[in-house]
Amino acid sequence: MFPVNSDWLVKYNLTIGENDMEQSKILERLLEVTRNLSASADLETYVQTLLSAAAELTDSESASILEYDEIAQDFHFRFVPWFHREAIQSARVPLNGSIAGWVFLHEKPLSIPDARADARHYPKIDQLSNFTTSSLLGVPLILRGRPLGVFEVFNKSSAAQYSEEDILIMETLASLASTALQNAALEQNAQSSIEGAKELERLKSEFIAITSHELRTPLGLILGHSTFLRELIGSEHHEQVDAIIRNASRLKEIIESLSRVDNYQTGGATLREGRASIARIIEDTILSFNEMAAQTQVTLKSSLPQDDELSVNVDASKIAVTLSNLVKNAVVFSNRGGQVNIRAERQQDAVKVTVEDNGIGIPVKDLPHIFERFYQVESHLTRKHSGMGLGLAVAKATVEMHGGKIWAESIEGVGSTFIFILPVDAPEPPKQPFIV
Ligand code: ADP
Repeated sequence: MFPVNSDWLVKYNLTIGENDMEQSKILERLLEVTRNLSASADLETYVQTLLSAAAELTDSESASILEYDEIAQDFHFRFVPWFHREAIQSARVPLNGSIAGWVFLHEKPLSIPDARADARHYPKIDQLSNFTTSSLLGVPLILRGRPLGVFEVFNKSSAAQYSEEDILIMETLASLASTALQNAALEQNAQSSIEGAKELERLKSEFIAITSHELRTPLGLILGHSTFLRELIGSEHHEQVDAIIRNASRLKEIIESLSRVDNYQTGGATLREGRASIARIIEDTILSFNEMAAQTQVTLKSSLPQDDELSVNVDASKIAVTLSNLVKNAVVFSNRGGQVNIRAERQQDAVKVTVEDNGIGIPVKDLPHIFERFYQVESHLTRKHSGMGLGLAVAKATVEMHGGKIWAESIEGVGSTFIFILPVDAPEPPKQPFIV
């Protein structure tokens, strides 16, 4: 803000006396300008207001802002009054051999009574704009110690040269202009980062959609023919053909997960809702993982209410996939002899499902990211487990599509708990695609 205490008067060597009335009028006008600035909708309007205020408060014919171009190492007119715009918009002003350059390099204000008689003046701009510069005042635009450009006013009408007060006014307006320029640059950077991220996301989705589509057909053929071959050949070759079928099925699973997330993201996924029993889904899931758990001596247990089926309105196959993803992780990330407990309970008009293990746990730094697509705690180059970092992304998208919530709690080395809550009656799926 504009400094209004007596330090300001001392700093600029101003005396309280006959000029007091004049100064307080200027102060008032300056304060009014700064207050009105906040109403400016965009940078151009904001800075044009500063240019008019600079010309008005310093009694000048005109004002402009030159911005330093670090690559070209010269200045261009970033803001000029409309009547000069066409003539000098594309003009460049050199760093060496111009008053703007001097102000910029010395980071000090410079007041000149007659620019035409000053060797530092760069006369080409006057020729281009058909303008005659006599007196001139330039102040540097500085932000956090770094010069950005120069703010100039020309041809003071009420005196032969600019005063200390004019310098003060220009420095105040220059600091407002510097902040505005910086904010606009930051906003532009943020905007282009957002656009870049969006484009990357779009390319990723497009790549996933094309790849999964192209892989699905040949994989189907591999699976179909190898199953057919298995029937034809002798049992001594079954082991090899089974390996082909197993791995092709795994690839099919990966492709399905990929397109599932993609469908959720693009809003292409639909829910086939009907009455389903969560208790039943849990029991079926445990059955399907018993063999895998037994291989690593992991015990799978469930804890369900005695007299409640936990009936909800959901797409049962999708909720089964969600639960499978959680249980599979719980088994995979458990140590030999570990335990996985699956609990479910009714909560007013929702059902809460908890999958708890006493396995390796998740580091605190990774916990906020595990539901993101392709996120894996261990690098895929060093990790012992297969997977593509899609299971939890699919689980999150599915639960959220049902109007539910999913989250995880974990302590590294102690274990993890994944919890999801589903409303008994899922609301209409949102029209907007999910961002996973
Ligand atoms: P993936 O299929 O690759 O395992 P997920 O999306 O299912 O991918 O899981 C993402 C990451 O979260 C996993 O790579 C793993 O590091 C971590 N994670 C998930 N569940 C557990 C768990 N129960 N215990 C420890 N880490 C887990």
